[in-house]
Amino acid sequence: MSLVIAVANQKGGVGKTTSCISIAAAIADRKRSVLLVDVDPQSNTTSGLGVKRNSIELSSYDLLLDDSIDASDVVHNVRKNFDLIPATIDLAGAEIELVPLLQREHKLRQALAAVRDKYDYIIMDCPPSLGLLTLNGLVAAEAVLVPVQAEYYALEGLMQLFSTLDIVRKTHNPKLKLAGVFITMFDVRTQLSQQVKDEVAWYFADNFLKTVVPRNVRLSEAPSHSQTIFEYDKRSKGAKAYARLADELLAKLESRDWQQGKIGHFD
Ligand code: ADP
Ligand code: MG
Repeated sequence: MSLVIAVANQKGGVGKTTSCISIAAAIADRKRSVLLVDVDPQSNTTSGLGVKRNSIELSSYDLLLDDSIDASDVVHNVRKNFDLIPATIDLAGAEIELVPLLQREHKLRQALAAVRDKYDYIIMDCPPSLGLLTLNGLVAAEAVLVPVQAEYYALEGLMQLFSTLDIVRKTHNPKLKLAGVFITMFDVRTQLSQQVKDEVAWYFADNFLKTVVPRNVRLSEAPSHSQTIFEYDKRSKGAKAYARLADELLAKLESRDWQQGKIGHFD
């Protein structure tokens, strides 16, 4: 059975999509099979991996709204060991179309059940909001991974996310765990970056992932070439950071302590 991870932060532009693509690619390189699910109507994960709109017959929108669709019919193989369930802009409508449905928060969980035994990891790229799409991601997930941009008020912004996570745990998904919180777009030249990092590290303690992703222009260039950072420039600081982050994450998620439920608790 796969481990299902939601990458979430209701703020836009903090590095969710970049982290999803880079971590999924690194995990696939390390011989685990990965399914990345694009749950964001902006579809940056889908386009960043080079999947063109006209090649998509079925997307995460169809999977969420049509119970008769089998998840394996929505999957695109994008790299070795690496599949994608793509998104299209249609998904923007799902936020409203899901509202009247029974079990509306459980659609993604139910849909992914059909492919749970096919992958080692299923990673979901959530949109920058706390609406029904993100909620579907959090209900489908066994663990949440939270990228935090090193900037002013980073911790304040996280409080809203963590209160939503509390509600999700109380109402829908009591076993939800925290895979980790990590810093993205770290700027080595600023005091502020260092302060934010120290503060987030202190606050999340054992749930803080030590690997920091620096601000690196190569990371922002790679998607326009339809390449992962490892394909585009594997010597870049961004590639090295994401490779290390994936190693740190795998070591944690495949440890005995994680599997026995000793780590990854919210409090
Ligand atoms: P989100 O999915 O949270 O909205 P993205 O991953 O799309 O965030 O990142 C927002 C923008 O910042 C994108 O243009 C992306 O290429 C760029 N970006 C992400 N991470 C980095 C980084 N570490 N260094 C430089 N640019 C980055
Ligand atoms: Mg995104």
